[in-house]
Amino acid sequence: MRAAEVLIVGAGPAGATAAINLAPFRSVVLVDRRATIAPRIGESLLPAARRLLVDMGLWEKFVSEGHQPWHGKRAVWGSSEPRETDFLRDPDGHGWHLDRARFEQWLCMIASNRGACLLRPASMVKLKHDGSRWSARVKTDEGLLEITADVVLDAGGRTAPTARKLGVRAQANDNLVCVWISGYDRANASRGLTYVEAVKDGWWYTAPIPGNRRVLAFHTDADLLPLSGLGPGRDMLFECAGAIKELSELLAGVGFTPDSKSNFAIANSTILEPCAGDNWLAVGDAAISFDPLSSQGLLNALFTGLAAAEATERHLKGDLLSLSSYAQIIRGIGDSYQRNLAFNYTSEARWTEAPFWQRRHRQYGAASD
Ligand SMILES: Cc1cc2nc3c(=O)[nH]c(=O)nc-3n(C[C@H](O)[C@H](O)[C@H](O)COP(=O)(O)OP(=O)(O)OC[C@H]3O[C@@H](n4cnc5c(N)ncnc54)[C@H](O)[C@@H]3O)c2cc1C
Repeated sequence: MRAAEVLIVGAGPAGATAAINLAPFRSVVLVDRRATIAPRIGESLLPAARRLLVDMGLWEKFVSEGHQPWHGKRAVWGSSEPRETDFLRDPDGHGWHLDRARFEQWLCMIASNRGACLLRPASMVKLKHDGSRWSARVKTDEGLLEITADVVLDAGGRTAPTARKLGVRAQANDNLVCVWISGYDRANASRGLTYVEAVKDGWWYTAPIPGNRRVLAFHTDADLLPLSGLGPGRDMLFECAGAIKELSELLAGVGFTPDSKSNFAIANSTILEPCAGDNWLAVGDAAISFDPLSSQGLLNALFTGLAAAEATERHLKGDLLSLSSYAQIIRGIGDSYQRNLAFNYTSEARWTEAPFWQRRHRQYGAASD
């Protein structure tokens, strides 16, 4: 049995960030079902993260972690001519291509150093509120543990496991999935650019990551995967990329040599409504998750982790409106995200009869007018 003021379920970027900002003032237990942090896709951190890292007193330490500068994007999108955009005029400077696992480990380490109690592997299996406090049953390697808390934060990622237990489910806007591999990259040839290319059944991206590595990913709708020759049990991603001229030239130019099997990830846009209630709130992907085209998920994890920590602190001090104000902020993020996504998808009009693009033009056509 353990008593805390705040229980955070999920120690990904959002949960760890919330813990970092709450632990100096409150007793925090942070639980994660994963025993270790495995390599994952999701490496591009937008420049605006700099302001959040400065606010949290983490900027200098972050820079010394040696992630790679992300200078811009080269895209074949809306036309067969590649176009480059960069962060030269961005007031926050360049973004970052992260070693994602190291970034997550670093955030968890800071949360622990600031006083959070991190338990892993520890999976929340049961949750109830007795009218005054939460009581959570958590499964650990040593057995079941009961944790009581005043406030619970759902930082469990896009499945929002805590909200689910309370009967609140995220609404999904689409069925986007991602198949990805990683491997060796000569690094010095990549110029810190993310590369994106639209094709008839979806879109590709590839980005360099620290340690002479690169990720290569294809996105389409779940039901359209077989059209691309990438259905279950077909480890053909690199071969499929080879059929796309511009992309395959880039991969050859950086000496990309895959050394992983194909991985699969759900990549759709979701929003949890409501994303806060009586003594609980959701952060990061649990509150709102983004199409990887936006590269917005990590920034959002840091932002909502910080905003949720502030809302929780005010709530514990007796502010009755802090959690609903937080939920309002998330709705605002969702609205502007949808407008941007609509603009991006409808600006590709070469295959409007193909199901992938037809769906997006139908869904977003009116919104982008
Ligand atoms: C294909 C793809 C590419 C992406 N690329 C980018 C990118 O380039 N840039 C970017 O900014 N974002 C990207 N993202 C999004 C980004 O990865 C997410 O937004 C980010 O991981 C969200 O962080 P989070 O902490 O909210 O959730 P997560 O990172 O999903 O962390 C959730 C944590 O909760 C734990 N958990 C889950 N259930 C339980 C439970 N019941 N009990 C205990 N623990 C639990 C999990 O183990 C996990 O550690 C991408 C996403 C996808 C799918």
